[in-house]
Amino acid sequence: MAKKQFKAESKRLLEMMINSIYSQREVFLRELISNASDAIDKIYYKALTDDRYQFNKDSYYIKVSADKENRTLTISDTGIGMTKEELEANLGTIAKSGSLAFKNETELKDGHDIIGQFGVGFYAAFMVADVVTVISKALDGDEAYKWESKGADGYTIVPVKKETVGTDIILKIKENTEDDSYDEYLEEYRLKSIIKKYSDFIRYPIKMDVKTSKKKEGTENEYEEVVEEQIINSMVPIWRKNKSELTDEDYEKFYNEKHYGFDKPLKHIHISVDGTIRYNAILYIPENIPFDYYSKEFEKGLELYSNGVLIMNKCADLLPDYFSFVKGMVDSEDLSLNISREMLQHDRQLKLIAKNINKKIKSELQALLKNEREKYEEFYKSFGRQLKFGVYSDFGANKETLQDLLLFHSSKDKKLVTIEEYVTRMPEDQKYIYYATGESVERIDKLPQTELVADKGYEILYFTEDIDEFAIKMLMSYKEKEFKSVSSSDLGFEPDESKNVSEEEKNENKELFDYMKNALTGKVTDVRISKRLKTHPVCLSTDGEISIEMEKILNAMPD
Ligand code: ADP
Ligand code: MG
Repeated sequence: MAKKQFKAESKRLLEMMINSIYSQREVFLRELISNASDAIDKIYYKALTDDRYQFNKDSYYIKVSADKENRTLTISDTGIGMTKEELEANLGTIAKSGSLAFKNETELKDGHDIIGQFGVGFYAAFMVADVVTVISKALDGDEAYKWESKGADGYTIVPVKKETVGTDIILKIKENTEDDSYDEYLEEYRLKSIIKKYSDFIRYPIKMDVKTSKKKEGTENEYEEVVEEQIINSMVPIWRKNKSELTDEDYEKFYNEKHYGFDKPLKHIHISVDGTIRYNAILYIPENIPFDYYSKEFEKGLELYSNGVLIMNKCADLLPDYFSFVKGMVDSEDLSLNISREMLQHDRQLKLIAKNINKKIKSELQALLKNEREKYEEFYKSFGRQLKFGVYSDFGANKETLQDLLLFHSSKDKKLVTIEEYVTRMPEDQKYIYYATGESVERIDKLPQTELVADKGYEILYFTEDIDEFAIKMLMSYKEKEFKSVSSSDLGFEPDESKNVSEEEKNENKELFDYMKNALTGKVTDVRISKRLKTHPVCLSTDGEISIEMEKILNAMPD
């Protein structure tokens, strides 16, 4: 039997590729199953345009079977198969993708469902197998052929008997070495979990013979082990379904199945975009803060799928930091992937999707704020802090996006209010948006500085979190109204005549004040008489940009 040789460069290329493209061995199964799915898709597309073929969905499937004794793993499909020429062209030529060619030839609108494009995935089989045997019978061919290879040293093709159209890929799983174990690729539970992880949304059934224990017929509680053929994958991705077909429970179920969180999501967002960029996404706003959310360990990101096949577990580029609490997934057929299909080639499409998603999250949060205030406040309790960090970071670059999502406690009815609500009900003569900082609403209420503003009948925002004042400094103003601390020396209104301190009064107690100033050297810059105070004998105030609260925080920060 004459061996056909790979060209020298290809030989090196194959070795390099097998060992360096993929970061995880388990993806070999994803690649072979994707090929099987493509092969079935091709019959489907053929049937659409050619009356000689019919497509009856029920007769198409993929089957994965492990044989521990013989150390073989077989992936069979009832797809289009390969002729001798195709075996040679597609599996004998590295980086030749029959699937890509098919996609280009058949200009079917739905042709983008086909996954293959680089012509290298098949060789991933050599990461776990010493020998790969392909037995295939093509839809258009009479004879079946067997292609076999041990990797870099070439391949053989011989005729073989096979009754049905389709392809069997038989992997002779490698023996364990000192460093590596390959046994797992023959274990039922392991294979199942790999299929679930990467190929759950392949549109054709992926079957496996699974051992289960069943009650013996005619007995009370005697069980026997039986082998049962099961479908492992969910097949229809929920994100491809019509929103109107789905219930809240469906979304909650998906959230739990995907382990996005253990809580119930507060809200789901289902996006289907079919424009210059096409993608589907299901996003969730969690109800509870993940335990590690405000820690360094927390990793933001969405799952990224390309045509229903998982590419990345946590794609961080899809979410800005201020929306890092969002969970969920994105599926797009328009991504340019690199050949390992683990990373993106260049991220123009991804940037577009990210921008789009960002807008959508913002508008959904605004809608929640407007229509379901209680829910929004619940959300805000968990993640409001993150939004404020968002305003503060990047020199306030995101303030336009975020300012209307902020809530603060207010002196009016002790409720949470938006800045807009505050500004809308400002009396005409009120110049500034007033705020007071302190540890809690109760503490702020007792601040002597608030009295003068409150007396004027003006509302005051209560800043109780350390980030609040920093965020507001970034906003500077809202609808041309500046923010002003109640401790500021210029409050923007003239106190009553009677509250002006006369020269006489100033001098009256000069000695006492000088004495106090001396005693507090280095701690205060001045001691003055004030008529702003009503029920308090004394208060601390600042003249500069930095309030006492900010000063405290800045002093507490490590240098
Ligand atoms: P890709 O899937 O990116 O095209 P692969 O290396 O995975 O690259 O596969 C190379 C080619 O081999 C495919 O494009 C397809 O034409 C052919 N092929 C692989 N597996 C099968 C299969 N199970 N049935 C039919 N054709 C297949
Ligand atoms: Mg492939």
